Amino acid sequence: QEKDYSMMLRTRTPGGFVPPQLYLTLDRLSDQYGNHTLRITTRQAFQLHGILKKNLKQTIAEIVHNLGSTLTACGDVNRNVMSPAAPYRNRPEYDLARTYANNVADLLTPQSGAYYEIWLDGEKAVSGEEDPEVVAARKRTINGSNVEGSIEPIYGSHYLPRKFKICVTVPGDNSVDLFSQDLTLVVLTNAQGELEGFNVLAGGGLGRTHNKEETFPRLADPIGYVDKADVYDMVKAIVATQRDYGDRSDRRHARMKYLIADWGLERFCAKVEEYFGQAIAPSKPLPEWKYLDFLGWHPQGDGKLFLGLSIQNGRIKDEGGFKLKSALKRIVERFNLPIMLTPSQDAILFDIDPADKSKIQGILDRAKVARPKKLDSLVRYSMACPALPTCGLATAESERVMPSILSRVRSLLDQVGLPDEHFFLRMTGCPNGCARPYLAELAFVGNGPNTYQVWMGAAPNQTRLAKVYLEKLNIDDLETTFEPVFTYFKQDRKPGESFGDFCDRVGLDAIHQYVAAH
Ligand code: SF4
Repeated sequence: QEKDYSMMLRTRTPGGFVPPQLYLTLDRLSDQYGNHTLRITTRQAFQLHGILKKNLKQTIAEIVHNLGSTLTACGDVNRNVMSPAAPYRNRPEYDLARTYANNVADLLTPQSGAYYEIWLDGEKAVSGEEDPEVVAARKRTINGSNVEGSIEPIYGSHYLPRKFKICVTVPGDNSVDLFSQDLTLVVLTNAQGELEGFNVLAGGGLGRTHNKEETFPRLADPIGYVDKADVYDMVKAIVATQRDYGDRSDRRHARMKYLIADWGLERFCAKVEEYFGQAIAPSKPLPEWKYLDFLGWHPQGDGKLFLGLSIQNGRIKDEGGFKLKSALKRIVERFNLPIMLTPSQDAILFDIDPADKSKIQGILDRAKVARPKKLDSLVRYSMACPALPTCGLATAESERVMPSILSRVRSLLDQVGLPDEHFFLRMTGCPNGCARPYLAELAFVGNGPNTYQVWMGAAPNQTRLAKVYLEKLNIDDLETTFEPVFTYFKQDRKPGESFGDFCDRVGLDAIHQYVAAH
């Protein structure tokens, strides 16, 4: 008899959009076949954990029959495309970012019917119509951007060397960690809010391996500007460059960031221009980037409201008196509300009639779901990956210990006289970096049981990478290690300076010297 293999299943939800029917289906499936929880990922998708192999087909079929999909949520293809989760109806740039996230996801969807043959006995269930421009762009060949004669015009028979991550955002909104993506499009509109084109960035990526210097986190570089009419050709040109020149001999060196790092930006852009068939225009000026999480109640611009809920580490569960999962199910069922999943693993309920606001808030209060204003900001701005026991790559705890790490850091900050301080703290069970630790002001990256590499100094708006402060920290030594670090920060910070900016300004060597001297 075959063993009870247990699987993790991830949804394809471009921009994090989850219609009510799909949410209620996932909620039910998590109880019927999963581990009774749902988990929001850092790429605006849901993960179901603990699905037995024998139940996989039924689970996937039910997702597809209820307006969802799992196609390309894993594998060496374009993954879930991200965009800001705020469901504004009066800010056209947000609407455009969502639309293009969806269209780029469609453009790069594999054309083979294998998914439907395997999981749906060949039934071709498609949840939405594709934009005709997307269909035409997929078929269009420019200078070898399409693989002639293949059922997969963009992927060919060998797909991509490695996973590929894309986001579409709006100027100033870095809720999507745009510098961590293989490819980023920034929507640019005119004064009337009409789309003109996109700034393009490429070559970001965070995954690395301990003790392998040749692997490293990297920020995306600006590539240039593309008119709206050419945006799909530009996406194809970049994907085709990685398809044809990305390293297929070493998976640790296969992400597009290494191609750009090895070639240099000039050579990379020259090759992209070859596929694109024209010169790339210079980037347009952009405002400063801000981290946004859209928590709390907001008008969405059409008379309705949206509500951003902080969901610690993205885990939707009931536990003791805390009944988040039951409350969300009740709200979605009763008010028929769609959800946007955010890149910081939170959830936004939207299209809320203002008359229902107090009823919804009452359900959440009774379920003991904290209001954002009452939440410790350390918790609000933290992220942890699942790690043990569900991820096979984990060498250390992450999600399960994060609440205790946060409360220990909070106590320590209180102790050194920084009671209201907060910063971005992220944790992962291995250097793959699913919770994007290298863009946190303080990060713990699993390096063996109870042991973490410590990274510090990223910018609070996630535009600068952190650096390694300690190769190995036994987490039991957290207090003795960070008491002098936070004391130094308190003494020498500039007014209003964040912890990450302080670490970057004084330098990690200076912090080591201070710690050694005290
Ligand atoms: Fe697993 Fe590592 Fe990703 Fe955490 S960072 S979920 S341990 S692969």
